[in-house]
Amino acid sequence: MTINFHNTHFEISASRLIECPGASVPEIVFAGRSNAGKSTAVNTLCKQRQLAFASKTPGRTQLLNFFHVLEQGEPIARLVDLPGYGFAQLAQSSQSTWDKELGGYLAERPSLRGCVLIVDSRRGLLELDHALIEWVSKRKLPVHILLSKSDKFNRQEQVLALRAANKAVENHRATGHNISIQLWSALKKTGLPELENQLQAWIRPALPDNPPEGQTT
Ligand code: GDP
Repeated sequence: MTINFHNTHFEISASRLIECPGASVPEIVFAGRSNAGKSTAVNTLCKQRQLAFASKTPGRTQLLNFFHVLEQGEPIARLVDLPGYGFAQLAQSSQSTWDKELGGYLAERPSLRGCVLIVDSRRGLLELDHALIEWVSKRKLPVHILLSKSDKFNRQEQVLALRAANKAVENHRATGHNISIQLWSALKKTGLPELENQLQAWIRPALPDNPPEGQTT
């Protein structure tokens, strides 16, 4: 069944790992430098105008903001917004509490299925983006990169941005890390089906056509 992300609601803000809700459903974390277009991307995906902007209100700019995706009233997944401020701490070498808490979440959260990394297509991948990929590469958590604001580019520039991003992640891929990249524009809704398909695949992976011998479903 196709997941409808329209039915997504704010659940809870956590400023410490211990405050995270139980790891009961598959989770997708959304990360990106401030102003990359992360809140707009989440809002576009969920077809809501204010949903993720709420993460920017005082009291919610914490470690992580959790959103429930509901289906027939039941939570089937969570979208997790990693605020730009928390994200920035990942590149710091200091072992602050923040690093440990966030690093702990990214490295150990059992329900985490994938990470959507929003990168401004005009700026490309910078140090912070690589820092995040490094963190999640420890557990080979798949990363899907949205090259945002692609509407600011003509077709040729888009192709070049995509090529540059693919080149930038070459080293990560060489270690076996699964990283996909797509063009994205919230303004023009470019790339929405592609993003939905990726999230669907993470939340509800297709069953194999031929289950291994001895296994029946
Ligand atoms: P965040 O800090 O990563 O959550 O970024 P926001 O979602 O708040 O977006 C930052 C700015 O970029 C805002 O002014 C948005 O209107 C703008 N923006 C976001 N997505 C797009 C897009 O797809 N195209 C264009 N042209 N602007 C965008």
